[in-house]
Amino acid sequence: MALPADYHMHTPLCRHATGEPTEYAAHAVRLGFTEIGMSDHSPMREDNFDDWRMRNDQLDEYVAKVRSAQRDHPQLTIRLALEVDFLPDRVEWIRELATRHPWDYFIGSVHYISGGWDIDSPFKRELWDRCDVDVVWAEYFDRLAQAAASGLFEIIGHADLPKKFGHMPTRDITPLIAKFLDACKATDTAIELNTAGLRKDCKEIYPSRAILELAHAKGVAITFGSDAHAPAEQGADFAAAIKLAKEVGFKSCGKFAGRKRAQVALL
Ligand SMILES: [Zn+2]
Ligand SMILES: [Zn+2]
Repeated sequence: MALPADYHMHTPLCRHATGEPTEYAAHAVRLGFTEIGMSDHSPMREDNFDDWRMRNDQLDEYVAKVRSAQRDHPQLTIRLALEVDFLPDRVEWIRELATRHPWDYFIGSVHYISGGWDIDSPFKRELWDRCDVDVVWAEYFDRLAQAAASGLFEIIGHADLPKKFGHMPTRDITPLIAKFLDACKATDTAIELNTAGLRKDCKEIYPSRAILELAHAKGVAITFGSDAHAPAEQGADFAAAIKLAKEVGFKSCGKFAGRKRAQVALL
């Protein structure tokens, strides 16, 4: 089985991952990948925004580490990317980040909803017991649709992240999902199959089969990502993700260079 590129992996600069880019690259070669992409958590303008991303002054160091991994492993294509937090008031900052280096792609992710709550944080899990779960899902997808409509990203990360700890909506959210996917289609933004969900309480790939089916029907492209926070997580459950994508009807996935998409067949 030829593996599609693993486009979602992190480095120690974000303070909650292990493994340097060159170590990920060495492991990727062992696993049989021909292409990967490093996509660590983007910095914010202010370094005290939170404690799970690189500092602003570490961005050049991050890029240098990816470049050195590229030099160490010339047989492997290593894309230079970031997982960028989308917040409605950070659009100018995201544009600024885009000019700093010749990125291959940006993964746009919503982790934060209003009130500064990063809904996937294991340290804020108790907030889920005190919220209206349906309100969180609605606000999350509203932000995700804004992220897709912004055209700032090539890929949208883990599109149904609120399910991480098992909190499912009690209402039909199909209209919210459709609005998000229409925005993806309008801006030619792909969505990722992110296998980290299988390692969380929800025990399911992000996003769900239902969302993938709607994405396929609307002609939205896909990519694959393990969301690895250690080299050993690289390519995790890719066989399951590829199987799911094919069952849903996808025949190809996106690859990115210089922020431009090409399609490669899913084998
Ligand atoms: Zn992370
Ligand atoms: Zn993320």
